[in-house]
Amino acid sequence: MDSNETASRVEPFWKTKTLEQMNTEEWESLCDGCGRCCLNKLEDWDTGEIVWTNIACTLFDPHTCRCRDYSNRIAKVPDCLPLTPESVRSLTWLPPTCAYRLVAEGEDLYWWHPLVSKDPGTVHEAGVSVRGRTVPEDDIPVEEYEEFVITWVNEDSFK
Ligand code: SF4
Ligand code: SF4
Repeated sequence: MDSNETASRVEPFWKTKTLEQMNTEEWESLCDGCGRCCLNKLEDWDTGEIVWTNIACTLFDPHTCRCRDYSNRIAKVPDCLPLTPESVRSLTWLPPTCAYRLVAEGEDLYWWHPLVSKDPGTVHEAGVSVRGRTVPEDDIPVEEYEEFVITWVNEDSFK
């Protein structure tokens, strides 16, 4: 067996490790940078149904689709929910394209995931990210949030 043959058989970490087994670098790299989870959601008090809006969190950068202060996000945005293996398995609202959800459900990553494509731009080129589709929450009064309800966050037709 030559070295090329050996290398070709090495599976990427997201196929061989559980969420719990990933180290910090692997865990962070699993985020595809889509920004979908940084959009505000509305919950129906009676039914518990959750709907998405295209209103982006105050710390969300609409151009990079990344958090502007990731290290301090919890202190600055108390509603921000850091993902953990436990929360990924229990949250019902994670977008169907979210890499954490896919791995938790035993699915592979899509071609446009930066870990697969080796290109951080493909999540945008494939139309998966929220780039160009958000409004900043600082501009929208809470009583108007219902006017910004969207459904495309739950689409997974980007395979
Ligand atoms: S939805 Fe998942 S993959 Fe997309 S930004 Fe949020 S954590 Fe990352
Ligand atoms: S604080 Fe940062 S990571 Fe959390 S929802 Fe806002 S933009 Fe996203």
